[in-house]
Amino acid sequence: MSPRAPDPAALDVATVAARCADLDEIADHARGCVACVDLVANRTTVVAGDFPPGARLLLVGEAPGSQEDALGRPFIGKAGQLLDRLLDEVGLSRAGVAVANVLKCRPPANRAPTRAETTRCRGWLDRQVAVLDPPLVVTLGGTALGWALGHGVRLMDMRGRVHEWAGRRLIVTYHPSAAIRFGPAGAPMAALRDDLRLAAETLCTS
Ligand code: SF4
Repeated sequence: MSPRAPDPAALDVATVAARCADLDEIADHARGCVACVDLVANRTTVVAGDFPPGARLLLVGEAPGSQEDALGRPFIGKAGQLLDRLLDEVGLSRAGVAVANVLKCRPPANRAPTRAETTRCRGWLDRQVAVLDPPLVVTLGGTALGWALGHGVRLMDMRGRVHEWAGRRLIVTYHPSAAIRFGPAGAPMAALRDDLRLAAETLCTS
């Protein structure tokens, strides 16, 4: 009997299943993390992220807000609702997109994460990226930009184009909360919409 040829479809299913298991394991470990004393004292949950099976696009934000902290999922408040609407507009369903934050625990009173906190926490996200291995990553806002490219670059100088980054593609854009703050006619809203459209086009060729 001749040996059977590998079945690419079966291989894909197995690969996806293995990645899901690894991502679940990372999330389980992150839920036990107590590295940031201030955040641990105030958090309800550790928000590890949403990783739908087979997701090819990863959106990276800053940190959980109050609703995310209460329910344990990223981007479900006002900013998340705007993000979902804009994803729909460009033909990307949130259900097929991975979403995570640089910081997994909510800073008290929604203050910005400190550099020490993001430095401590980035290992979880780095491991999630390595396991998910998405061809395209989109960073939302300055904290996520700092995670990807360091803190010496300006968002407005980097957005609007596709970067080669760590063996994958990277698009940099505004956080949806900035788009809300500046209003529907503000520059961040237009930029975020354009950059998500660019992400949808890039995904087609990745
Ligand atoms: S923010 Fe990150 S590093 Fe800090 S306690 Fe939460 S999971 Fe751990």
